[in-house]
Amino acid sequence: MPVLFVGHGNPMNAIEENEFSLAWQEAASHIPQPEAILCVSAHWEAQGSLVTAMQQPRTIHDFYGFPRELFAKLYPAPGSPELAQRVIQLLGESRVKPDSSWGLDHGTWSVLCRMFPKPNIPVLQLSLDRTQENEYHYQLGGALRQLRHEGVLVIGSGNLVHNLRLMVWQDTAFDWAVEYDEKVKQWLLEGDDESIIHYEMHGKAAMLSVNSAEHYLPLLYVLGLKEANEPIHFFADKIWGGSISMRCVRFG
Ligand code: ZN
Repeated sequence: MPVLFVGHGNPMNAIEENEFSLAWQEAASHIPQPEAILCVSAHWEAQGSLVTAMQQPRTIHDFYGFPRELFAKLYPAPGSPELAQRVIQLLGESRVKPDSSWGLDHGTWSVLCRMFPKPNIPVLQLSLDRTQENEYHYQLGGALRQLRHEGVLVIGSGNLVHNLRLMVWQDTAFDWAVEYDEKVKQWLLEGDDESIIHYEMHGKAAMLSVNSAEHYLPLLYVLGLKEANEPIHFFADKIWGGSISMRCVRFG
C-alpha cells in the first residue's frame, strides 16, 4: 500500500465538488482497494497514543458555523477491533491504548467520504499524543510500516502549512506560507526527514506555518512510514486562504 499525507483544509470539501475533493477522488482511483484504513488526524489530540477499537465508530462533527447539510453528513464505516489489536502489538502496550469513545473526526471522514464514498472499508484512528516530542511521532510511524504490507492504507490528515488565526476567506497565498510549503516540498524530494521533523529550526516562515503543530504532526507519521527511495507524488498542491497548504503527498 502507498502511504498518504492529505491536506484536508475546510470541512466543506466533504460535500463540495471542488479542485481539492476532485483531486482526492482522482488519487484514490490509483490506490488498490485497502483491507482497512488507519488515519492519524490533526483533530484528535490526546495525552497518550490511543487507537479507536470500537466495532462501529461514530461520525464526529467537530466544527461550528457550517451548513446543516454538513452536520447531516455521516460516514458509517465499520471499525476493526482486530486491527486495533495489531496496532497495539506493533507499537507496544506501553505506548498505545485502545479507545472506545472517539470515532471518526472530520480530519478523517471529510477526506474518506470523497476518496472512498462507499463506507465499507474498516477505518481506525490513531491519536496525536501532544505530550511527546516531534521525534516520537516519526518513530511511531516507522513502527507501523509493516501495516502497509498487510493491505492497510495509512493516511496522515492535516495541513503542511496551517495558521487559522491568520486565514482569510480568499483564494490567496501569503509569502511565508509559499516559502515554507516549498521548503518542505524540497526536503521531501531530497529525503531530508530531519529538516522536516525539526521545523522549529527554520525561522519565522516555519513558525507561522506550523503554528500550533497539530496539522503538521500527521506528516511525521507518514515520513516514518515511507521506505527509503520510494517514489513520491504530490497532488492538490496549492495554498488556500492565505495560510493553508492543501498539498497532498503520496509515497509508494
Ligand atoms: Zn483541520
